[in-house]
Amino acid sequence: MKNLYASEGPIRIGVSSCLLGEQVRFDGGHKRSDFLTDTLGRFVEFVPVCPEMEIGLGVPRESIRLVRDSNGDSAIRLVGNKTGLDHTGKMNAYAERRTTALGREDLSGYVLKKDSPSCGMERVRVYGASGMATRDGAGLFASALMQRYPSLPVEEEGRLNDPHLRENFVERVFAYRRLTSFFSARWTLGGLVQFHTVHKLVLMAHSPKAYSELGRFVANAKHLGREEVRDDYEPAFMDALKQLATTARHTNVLQHMLGYLREHLDATARSEMVSLIDDYRHGLVPLIVPITLFRHYVREFDISYLRGQVYLEPHPKELMLRNHV
Ligand code: SF4
Repeated sequence: MKNLYASEGPIRIGVSSCLLGEQVRFDGGHKRSDFLTDTLGRFVEFVPVCPEMEIGLGVPRESIRLVRDSNGDSAIRLVGNKTGLDHTGKMNAYAERRTTALGREDLSGYVLKKDSPSCGMERVRVYGASGMATRDGAGLFASALMQRYPSLPVEEEGRLNDPHLRENFVERVFAYRRLTSFFSARWTLGGLVQFHTVHKLVLMAHSPKAYSELGRFVANAKHLGREEVRDDYEPAFMDALKQLATTARHTNVLQHMLGYLREHLDATARSEMVSLIDDYRHGLVPLIVPITLFRHYVREFDISYLRGQVYLEPHPKELMLRNHV
């Protein structure tokens, strides 16, 4: 199978610096993530960013938190825990500049440190006037990043401990890379049809609804302006992949693929495949097991439609992400 995830240049991922082991936390510590440094790091290039260091807070520094303004509006401020020093203006101005600059870094994803008032993606504590906190905030830098690049795959390191979320994030990173590489070159409608076609089974596994809608969109694209095509296809494609591919949907895709193999397999091989799909559906074997056999048959019988499908290898197999879903 063509190596669809390998494209020109390294895949670059933005990351909260402390997750790479840099001692930039308020107390001089770090929050190194072994998955990022030892596993994913073998396939990508990281672009580390520590917003609190970059606005000049230094190490060690006073810890900071988000507070909700008590003056009636719902503005969120970033203040020192003890001194109450207000860093909001500085952080917001920095986030505006830094996220603009990150646009030139060719990022295909971003991993943020959870719970941080600067980097947290969601459920960050926001303190009210009473001192009670609600977990409904996002770090100021993280908010600016996600607002500016809504299609960029973003995840928190804590959630990456879940094998399903981890597989989903890495799949989105590689998909985003293919998508942005495609649209940044001199693309044609024929090329878009091809791009869409090789991602059909991926889309089906994530969202049958988006699979149908995007299929109709691509078929109708010749009536639209090029800019409109790109501006609509990109977010719809990335949103579809955000939806977790469930066991039921994977099972559906596997059965769909089996349809392409039927005429090539004898009764024994067919029933072996059916029972493997069933074992996967019942949680007895991970997804990689039926996929490996499919890959074998697709190669052996040279089934061109399936051979091109990204679904069979959406990310480097050395990451072994499908051994755990
Ligand atoms: S969470 Fe963000 S701001 Fe805090 S130390 Fe890590 S990179 Fe720096």
